[in-house]
Amino acid sequence: MKVIKELQWDMGHRITNHRSQCRNLHGHRYKAEICIEGDLVGIEGISNEGMVIDFGDIKKIAVKHIHNVLDHGFMVWNKDKVLMEYFKKNADQKHIIVSFVPTCENIAAWIFNQLDSHIKDRYKNGLRLHSIKLWETPTSVVICTRNDVKKLTKRL
Ligand SMILES: [Zn+2]
Repeated sequence: MKVIKELQWDMGHRITNHRSQCRNLHGHRYKAEICIEGDLVGIEGISNEGMVIDFGDIKKIAVKHIHNVLDHGFMVWNKDKVLMEYFKKNADQKHIIVSFVPTCENIAAWIFNQLDSHIKDRYKNGLRLHSIKLWETPTSVVICTRNDVKKLTKRL
């Protein structure tokens, strides 16, 4: 079975070499659906009995490793010379330096990698991260699965 927890945050970025508007400094209200799969926990008498994972546990992991890292920050591609220079001089401005162009696709894959090792199969129910669905705008969304990440990992 699959369970989904939603997470939202505000973040700035730009697509440095974009042919149009996206090259400008701007921000989004990002929304991610974190999808986790596994069998139902069958151990009698424990808090997680009958669950894939406690929604509260997904929230704790997502807030710590995604929301608190990104919220009200600016994601900067390390090859964006102008912004790297700016944030060097203004280090007090929250920024997240990444080695990829911060497109919705790459950010979704990055989120997958950030969370994957924290989804631990404690109750032997085959628990694992299934996919990240990331909205950049209310009408633009990316779905990133484990297979997608395998192909991208070299660049992240
Ligand atoms: Zn954008």
